[in-house]
Amino acid sequence: MTIFSKIIAGEIPSYKVAENDKFFAFLDINPVNWGHTLVVPKKEEDYIFDISDEDLGEMMVFAKKVAKGIKKAIPCRKVGVTVLGLEVPHAHIHLVPLQKEGDMDFKSKIDNPDPAKMKELAEAIASNIE
Ligand code: AMP
Repeated sequence: MTIFSKIIAGEIPSYKVAENDKFFAFLDINPVNWGHTLVVPKKEEDYIFDISDEDLGEMMVFAKKVAKGIKKAIPCRKVGVTVLGLEVPHAHIHLVPLQKEGDMDFKSKIDNPDPAKMKELAEAIASNIE
């Protein structure tokens, strides 16, 4: 069971943003920028491009809904999309609110983000998802 499956199962706490029957979204615990959100499939798959065409399409549509919520909740020019997946073997899409390109620098993360601020952001994003 991956750490993300444990989060989905509620065994590990997370700053949840959204979920449906197939996908789950929560704040990255070491965000590159405030509002950095991960979108993951509930069905474990390591490599995103091993996901079926149908599920990958649905995952991107779910990510789009989440990104719209992020953009409403957090002032930004656009929400950037990245897939890395080198650390956690459970496919995930990174969504990061951007004012400038440097806002998505994975070498410069916010360490020990304030839990109260993370909770507030997750709730703000969640309440702006249609
Ligand atoms: P990567 O697999 O390279 O895309 O990186 C995995 C991402 O998951 C990193 O940005 C981590 O900060 C994030 N991450 C790891 N564990 C957790 C967790 N328990 N809750 C939220 N995000 C996490």
